[in-house]
Amino acid sequence: MSEMLEGALSQLETAAKYTEVPAEVLDALRHPKEVMSARVTIRMDNGSRRSFEAWRCRYDDTRGPTKGGIRYHPDASMEEVITLAFWMTFKCAVVGLPYGGGKGAIKVDPRSLSPHEIERLSRAYVHSFARMIGPDRDIPAPDVYTNAMIMGWMADEYSSMVGYPAPAVITGKPIALGGSLGRVDATARGGFYVLNNLLAQLELDKTQKRVVVHGYGNAGSMIAGLLHADGWRVVAVADSKGAVYCEAGLDPARLSKAKNKSGSVISYARESPGDKVEVITPDEMFALDCDLIVPAAMEDQITADNAGAIRAPVILELANGPVTSAADAILEEKGIRVIPDILANAGGVTVSYFEWVQNRQGYYWTEEEVQQKLRPIMERESTAIWEMAQEKQITLRTAAYVLGLARLTDAIKAHGTQSYFCP
Ligand code: GLU
Repeated sequence: MSEMLEGALSQLETAAKYTEVPAEVLDALRHPKEVMSARVTIRMDNGSRRSFEAWRCRYDDTRGPTKGGIRYHPDASMEEVITLAFWMTFKCAVVGLPYGGGKGAIKVDPRSLSPHEIERLSRAYVHSFARMIGPDRDIPAPDVYTNAMIMGWMADEYSSMVGYPAPAVITGKPIALGGSLGRVDATARGGFYVLNNLLAQLELDKTQKRVVVHGYGNAGSMIAGLLHADGWRVVAVADSKGAVYCEAGLDPARLSKAKNKSGSVISYARESPGDKVEVITPDEMFALDCDLIVPAAMEDQITADNAGAIRAPVILELANGPVTSAADAILEEKGIRVIPDILANAGGVTVSYFEWVQNRQGYYWTEEEVQQKLRPIMERESTAIWEMAQEKQITLRTAAYVLGLARLTDAIKAHGTQSYFCP
């Protein structure tokens, strides 16, 4: 078992100490319900055939159809997909959505493919996994290196397979194909609402408001924009190529422009010669004197090797699993508060749920309505988690797992458990 999956499952065991869980419920949650692996084959632009490893996992569907993104990444693996699906199971429970957890991936570096190759690969994925997905069974969405355009191709492929438009099969689609307004920035906005709701309790220094963002894809660039507009100073930003630092603050819009143009935020330094922008390493960035770190890239970025140097008092996990278990223990020891992924980034799947509801109703909401519905969910659950953490003297992560586990336990018990049959 990978360290990542082991770490995820250890959260389950920790949470079980703080809520009543029958042994058979815990046992059910230790294993995925269904995992499928396939080789997805396409014709490349040069006429050759190439196949790619791919997976989809439906971890648990007790609370509803499984839900979770599909990522395209050269390091993807089945264990990673299972771990991510486990996290989705808890994430959906934490924000009270009527969903179970799923996830999918293709082991590919999409930057090495042409747009036509990516389209063929995305359509081929739907063909290979058609028996697994469906609007009432398993609903994919975007994740790392996948986007609305890819979701549109996938929804289109599924619709042509079943013979009628089936927009609710996938979320994060383009608006023109039944996507929801407010889905693009939902992950960041959800995290932003959580942060603001807990701001007073977190005792953050309101005069400084210096934030460091690790990862400048959808979640990272959107949170940088939201925080900047709210008076935060974005002092450093990193992507997979390196980091840029400017004590006076970086401009998120210009960072996005630099990244779109050159492929990395580090070109911001070249383009802003007068601004005292330095190119630094991500580890140097994590060690900066700042008030908030937002990991918004991949798993396992804050580890036992760099956690000791972190000076920020708060970490808002917009990525899934950015802090390893070993790093978590170090951060706790240092009194650093981690707002856990299954709460902090749950805005994405929440607006995905709104998209699915709109697709099924055939009735579409304004962006304002979407935000008005998202905010109370993020506030309600973050308050509940904060209060539980205080009451039980546990970390916010453990409290989030306890909340999710209690909801999953209720559902699994209601489906029928030993305690039901042998009272
Ligand atoms: N990929 C996102 C996540 O990890 C969104 C999932 C969804 O919208 O279903 O939460």
